[in-house]
Amino acid sequence: MGEFELIKRFFTRPTPRAVLGVGDDCALLQSAPAMQLAISSDMLVEGRHFFADVDPGKLGHKALAVNLSDLAACGARPLAFTLALALPRADAAWLEGFANGLLALADAHGCELIGGDTTKGPLNICITVLGEVPPGAALLRSGARAGDDIWVSGTLGDAYLALRCLQGQLPLPAPVRALALERMQRPTPRVGLGLALRGIASAAADISDGLLGDLGHILERSQLGATLDSQAALPLLASRALYGDDAAAFARDIGPALALRCVLSGGDDYELVFTAAPAQRAAVLAAARSAETDVSRIGQIDAQPGLRVLDADGAPLTERFSAFDHFNSD
Ligand code: ADP
Ligand code: MG
Repeated sequence: MGEFELIKRFFTRPTPRAVLGVGDDCALLQSAPAMQLAISSDMLVEGRHFFADVDPGKLGHKALAVNLSDLAACGARPLAFTLALALPRADAAWLEGFANGLLALADAHGCELIGGDTTKGPLNICITVLGEVPPGAALLRSGARAGDDIWVSGTLGDAYLALRCLQGQLPLPAPVRALALERMQRPTPRVGLGLALRGIASAAADISDGLLGDLGHILERSQLGATLDSQAALPLLASRALYGDDAAAFARDIGPALALRCVLSGGDDYELVFTAAPAQRAAVLAAARSAETDVSRIGQIDAQPGLRVLDADGAPLTERFSAFDHFNSD
């Protein structure tokens, strides 16, 4: 199978919205009047972001999900995406699975594949998404105010739990392992929530490098500090729910320090962390309901710089939790 046959067979789909999709030198997209384009790229590299033996369908899903998550964090509606792919070989079964996972998520969000690039090389997937947002409506990292509540969507830390498990550092009961792996391999981009939070949230970011790190970006851009309640954040580990009423057994099995590490600085969750004025609490909850996504209030924005995490007694935790950084983490 040659390059062009491969593109035709797996990556050429009808594009009802785009004026011109795959096949020419450029794709053509008619921009809607009075809308801004929201554009973001994310790259997935074998050995860095995923293991070589990962299921191709899940990889296709995740490659687009991490990009849609950036649109969600801006409150943008997905329109289209391009796919730049380096492949070691043209393996039809692998490509079929990859395209199915990718395009199923694309269809679910009405996001059209309109072009890309295909080359031979170590497996590497780079997607650029385009979305739209009314002028002035995008959720930015820079909009937080002192006194705002800090919220997160969904659950946190399971992807990191799965990573530790896959690295053989942490035996987990089978159902917990399965749930954690699912969260790592098939993250849910919170697109509906991002759209529903326009005009309600003051700032937002998606959690790709860990809660503290990504909240830290909001604080830096907003030039503010924050206090987080570790006891409000701790129950967010989804896999913990599988222990039923015996949450203490979960902490015993994985250790409370690791549980906190997962929630506070485990990466790869693709939930939203956002801020909103306390007067918006009912509106935030209504937005979450309309998007069928859980949200939890876990802290507050402070005028005082720095990020404080409080333990059960309201005392600051002394451990330092660092966010993932490609050039400073192992
Ligand atoms: P060019 O030579 O202009 O770079 P290519 O020959 O690489 O174009 O690609 C031919 C067409 O196929 C273009 O429309 C391009 O956008 C599209 N394309 C290439 N690779 C992919 C891919 N992985 N997914 C979707 N479209 C692709
Ligand atoms: Mg060309």
